[in-house]
Amino acid sequence: MDTDPTHSEEPAARATGGCACGSVRYRVVGELRDVINCHCEPCRRFTGHFMTGTAAAIGDLVIESDDTLAWWQRTPTVRYGFCSACGSSLFWEAHDKPDTTSITAGSLDPPTGLATTLAIFGADASDYHRLDPEIDTAPYDRP
Ligand SMILES: [Zn+2]
Ligand SMILES: [Zn+2]
Repeated sequence: MDTDPTHSEEPAARATGGCACGSVRYRVVGELRDVINCHCEPCRRFTGHFMTGTAAAIGDLVIESDDTLAWWQRTPTVRYGFCSACGSSLFWEAHDKPDTTSITAGSLDPPTGLATTLAIFGADASDYHRLDPEIDTAPYDRP
């Protein structure tokens, strides 16, 4: 039996994360993109505020427990992932970005080592919300 940990088949996790109740847990074995805030109306309603999306390559996101992972198919090409037990917002996928899954940065276990670099759909932010002037903000989709 090989007990040498350096011979492990598992790639080291870049990050781990999960939902509020712990039923959904995941790890990311590759790089994570810096965080893009999305203030579009579906993201605002889905998260209750706005989407804080990092992103990983599809193959780099390993869902370790997914019994309560559910998907809201918002359009034929866009879906949002969440925990059906506690309601946590977790993932976002779109057909026009077939290689990546967006991950809510707040569901990552800190420290994330990430920075927020851009906000999009700033024109759709609700009136109560004050956009951060230090974050580059596009009125609609990514410039
Ligand atoms: Zn949960
Ligand atoms: Zn959005």
